[in-house]
Amino acid sequence: MKYQVYARHNLDKIPIYGKLSKEQIQSIRIVSEVLPFKTNNYVINELIDWDNYHEDPMFILNFPQKEMLKPSQFKALSALVENNVSKADLAKYIHEVQLNLNPHPAGQLEHNIPTLKGEKLSGIQHKYRETILFFPSQGQTCHAYCTFCFRWPQFTGLNELKFAMKQTSLVISYLKENPSITDILITGGDPMIMKTEMLERYINAFLNADLPQLKTIRIGTKSLSFWPYRYLSDPDSKELLDLFRKVNDRGIHLALMAHINHPRELETDAVKEAIARIRETGTQIRSQSPLLQHINDKPAVWAHMWKEQVNLGIIPYYMFVARDTGAQSYFGVSLEEAHRIFNEAYQQVSGIGRTVRGPSMSAGPGKVRIVGITEVQGEKVFVLEFLQGRNPEWVGKPFFAAFDSQAQWLDDLVPAFGEKEFFYEQEYEKLLKVDKLPGQTLTTEKKQYA
Ligand SMILES: *Cc1c(COP(=O)(O)O)cnc(C)c1O
Ligand code: SF4
Repeated sequence: MKYQVYARHNLDKIPIYGKLSKEQIQSIRIVSEVLPFKTNNYVINELIDWDNYHEDPMFILNFPQKEMLKPSQFKALSALVENNVSKADLAKYIHEVQLNLNPHPAGQLEHNIPTLKGEKLSGIQHKYRETILFFPSQGQTCHAYCTFCFRWPQFTGLNELKFAMKQTSLVISYLKENPSITDILITGGDPMIMKTEMLERYINAFLNADLPQLKTIRIGTKSLSFWPYRYLSDPDSKELLDLFRKVNDRGIHLALMAHINHPRELETDAVKEAIARIRETGTQIRSQSPLLQHINDKPAVWAHMWKEQVNLGIIPYYMFVARDTGAQSYFGVSLEEAHRIFNEAYQQVSGIGRTVRGPSMSAGPGKVRIVGITEVQGEKVFVLEFLQGRNPEWVGKPFFAAFDSQAQWLDDLVPAFGEKEFFYEQEYEKLLKVDKLPGQTLTTEKKQYA
């Protein structure tokens, strides 16, 4: 299958253009000024149900919706476009709207980016002791864009999060100085947008660097859902599968962290075939997704999705709470609702599907899971715990927040029982000030590396 990409500039070339209503086309044109839009022939031909597209979760997942902006923003932007204002004025307003959508949640720009030999390693993030995130510069796009995308600032020029090949040796030095790092999570964008040759250059650098600590390479990707032909018929798909096999043969666990938002994404012959081929290489596929209004906010959808994943050999991993950025007001679900949906779905699957953890908020101090809602000494509370913490010692300790039916994010919560702060807050503040993890080695002076 040949990859055909569609975006703002060739919207009218989309084969189903005639099916879109005038209002819909207007919405796509306006919203995609602010948030990125890209689709492709697989999503259009095999995922979206065009007979009922207005409510179709795959359509809402990939095509910008009017309600993703505030009505006032949508109106103002439409007026500017209709009145043909100057490019500069338009860009100024777009930028204003973008800044209004909290483009840098959880301090992503300032924190977790280590410095080595006085140089900021701007293409990696190190927040949890065992794992670094790694953003290859050639992987900073996707086969199609999700409307809820929490990484949208990387695609609109608001956020520079790039790893240049020439920095590889610095990252390897950093790994050698921090032997607690066992996992490299290659992310993007979508790293599977890279040609096999490029991906292999990055992976080889790690494989050949003599890093006995390195146990797992993970690749975060939406390609199974948005372009399964990456593993079937792209010109370098065979080499890609060979690369996967090579990593596993070297005794390094390769895990594909598949972003799957809806069970529909698992229905096509192409995706099933791709999953089978990947698994044949010894690669493990794990799945994660945020909980999204209009797309997957029903327990039955999640239960179905987890069951189908288990059937196909995918391990359910995380359910996330939609992050406080971009179109969160459109996609967000209250924490109370998130907990209910998670639990009702979790109860419907066998133990094999209960590898999933959530609902989890990836916030500044760590990944915080809503364990439950209960009453303690007459006060209704959320029971919370860290699944991951900037300090690993925070993980697994239950703590309590006052119940709030409107809360959608950790920042909306206050401690229960009239306490002033959560147990981790003072230490978190301190860690932010030094911008250092407990036990992390940051070399600022010049030093020779082997
Ligand atoms: C989620 C996440 C990881 C990986 O955490 P795991 O619990 O090991 O999957 C690593 N770094 C950051 C910044 C993350 O948000
Ligand atoms: S695949 Fe990930 S990075 Fe790409 S658009 Fe979707 S959410 Fe964003």
